[in-house]
Amino acid sequence: MKFAFPDGKVFYRNLRKTYPQIVRGEGIYLYDISGRRYLDGSGGAVVVNIGHGIEAIADALAQQAKRVAYVNGKQFTNEPVETLSEELAEVMPESINKFYYLTSGSEATEASIKLARQYWVERGEKHKTKIISHNPGYHGNTLGALSVSGRPEVKDLYGPLLLNLPLIPAPVCYRCPCDKTYPSCGAVCAEALDAMIRQEGPETVSAFIAEPIIGASAGTAVPPPEYFKTIREICNHYRVLFIADEILTGMGRTGRWLAIEHYDILPDIVLLGKGLAGGYLPLSALAVREEIPITLENTSGAFLHGQTFSHTPMICTAGLAALRYLKAHHLVERSESMGKLLLERCRELLELDFVGDVRGKGLLVGIEFVSDRLSKKPFPRRARVAERIHHTALQNGLVVWIHSGHIDGESGDLVTIAPPFIINETQIDELIDLFSNTCRAVCGSL
Ligand code: PLP
Repeated sequence: MKFAFPDGKVFYRNLRKTYPQIVRGEGIYLYDISGRRYLDGSGGAVVVNIGHGIEAIADALAQQAKRVAYVNGKQFTNEPVETLSEELAEVMPESINKFYYLTSGSEATEASIKLARQYWVERGEKHKTKIISHNPGYHGNTLGALSVSGRPEVKDLYGPLLLNLPLIPAPVCYRCPCDKTYPSCGAVCAEALDAMIRQEGPETVSAFIAEPIIGASAGTAVPPPEYFKTIREICNHYRVLFIADEILTGMGRTGRWLAIEHYDILPDIVLLGKGLAGGYLPLSALAVREEIPITLENTSGAFLHGQTFSHTPMICTAGLAALRYLKAHHLVERSESMGKLLLERCRELLELDFVGDVRGKGLLVGIEFVSDRLSKKPFPRRARVAERIHHTALQNGLVVWIHSGHIDGESGDLVTIAPPFIINETQIDELIDLFSNTCRAVCGSL
């Protein structure tokens, strides 16, 4: 049986592709209907952190479904949402201790844009509306979230529907926006935020949103160590909220509960998603400094936002079960130790002429492909290198996450490797063998 449009009744994500149908997952592996095994080298879309097929999570969900599956967050609270918040607060920085739940990352971004706006209005600063963000950078696909995303290749079509908001160059050291080299650059790229706030007028800027480590859209770009300290100072100076989008990087992916911990500063709002419920149910959250809801409590009394499935028992049960599993099996520590090994092994790929850069933190590694290493010239888009790598890897039994267009909205080929945290040394060897064979096959034929 073939799973492709127009057969069957599914409106597939890609209408020209034939999809393997996955029927089972176990640990770091997925199995399709024909029994073929795939090493899930990217945890899907950098989601699966605790692994596939964990009985403890299935049991927790089944028990909660029997107890009570749904109550509305406007009418009731429930045990899973209370307990999840208590236990999340234990792993977050001390001042980030109030949690508002939604289902997708994009919704969390939307809600944070609105929360920042409401916060400033209630503090009497009603002109603070603008959100500044990075290019490249990604915060979601709904219209507000897309407006703050630096991804022309998926934005341009919807341009007339989007908000026109200012972007600053992302700190991608491999392609430094300031044409400098670390450490002599002194992380001067952070000053772009200061210049943009002044250009727009500080009284109009509500927040700066950024991924602490720029995930898929910049191929795991790790900003210089000083970068976010300067960003924090600029935000403080102009009274601009700093929203750390940890939807991809949070919950241990980079070897810390939050990637911003590598930078030793505190955001005002943290966005969580993807791995928050391990992939078992869609769950996202805004984790905020208490002062933000206190401001709302003292003025209007509520965040003017709400969704049918916010704060509901099933999604929070999934989050709680995944969080407890991460803690009980010390998987964040494991992400750090296995991540070091993965990065080291991926760096061996630098011996291939077409691998320009390998970068990462924890179990999040980005690989950038180039046609010429010296000039860092990308492959022409028509060569579709990233797509070919994805396709060939899948044929070889490996799942990777790809991205293209980060250089100019069209060219640039990136692969993200982000396996579940339970991966072991032997499985890393297997992943590297599969990936290295894939790269040689694809790039050798160009
Ligand atoms: N923010 C970041 C950093 C992401 O990587 C993503 C998704 O890839 C999102 C937000 C949007 O999340 P979702 O796809 O769950 O809406």
